[in-house]
Amino acid sequence: MILEMITIGWNNGLELRAERSRVLIDPKRTERGVPVLLTHGHRDHIPKDVKNPSSKIYATHPTTSLLTRFYGAPPESVIPLSFNETLVLGDIRITPFIAGHIIGSAMYLIEADRRRILYTGDVNPRGGFHVEGPADVPEADVVIIESTYGSPEYCFPDPHRVRAELVKWAVDLVRSGEKVLIKAYTVGKAQEVISTFNRLTNAEVVVVGEAAKSSSILARYSRLRFSLSENDPCIIITNKINPMSAGRRAIVTGWVLRRQFHGFEGFCLSSHGDFYDLIEVIRRASPQEVYTVHGMVETLANHVRREMGIRAEPLRITKV
Ligand SMILES: [Zn+2]
Repeated sequence: MILEMITIGWNNGLELRAERSRVLIDPKRTERGVPVLLTHGHRDHIPKDVKNPSSKIYATHPTTSLLTRFYGAPPESVIPLSFNETLVLGDIRITPFIAGHIIGSAMYLIEADRRRILYTGDVNPRGGFHVEGPADVPEADVVIIESTYGSPEYCFPDPHRVRAELVKWAVDLVRSGEKVLIKAYTVGKAQEVISTFNRLTNAEVVVVGEAAKSSSILARYSRLRFSLSENDPCIIITNKINPMSAGRRAIVTGWVLRRQFHGFEGFCLSSHGDFYDLIEVIRRASPQEVYTVHGMVETLANHVRREMGIRAEPLRITKV
């Protein structure tokens, strides 16, 4: 895609090239001498060679903490950014805005040659308990948006109701003497679940496995109250449940639209926006063009074109 003096490619992550500079966002691998920006700290957005000391990676403060303390990036290779503060890389200006997906998650507004391009990364206009806030969407000429749940059948339930159901289910079981095991993704979801129990109950929660490590790192950015040693009965939050472990099991993810899920009690709480949230992000950005990436790219682009009257298509694999 060529927009006057800026070229956008989609191959090794999002690739931007202006007259005097080149930038990669969420690349699979770093490239020598090319600055990298990361939208957030989920593993599928981290370059495979993150431990390479010669790379130069920009990300928000929580994400840089994950990079160095969880993924093993050398501290000298990461540069922290603050929300709403513009970074100038040659003739490209980049400003991070709150994405509302997990703590530290950023959308990037890219400005070059008077064009404003918004790359949402993973985005959630509802926000959550353990994020900086709901997505803070700036206006842009072009929006490049994730489409993880980019189809109308994905209409998530009210997150406040889901949180209330989750804590009631767990606390009632613990009161009756049972142990509760809650499976949640290591980075983001585990902290959202801990925060849910912290805000809505006085129950003690125990966090084990990799989720304990990520939660300890991220607790400095938004308070989390949890312990690392098991008492009995108790509520345990983990990224991996041993099939031999005794106790009642639950899973918290946007992918469960029904309450019973392969032997788990399913609670539909997503870090992503649903289809209607993605439409809302586009409406707020008020662009002339939309490009979709990740997930249901065709469905979302078709809807934007037909129902919103905005030029839209999946961002094709190209190299700049
Ligand atoms: Zn993510």
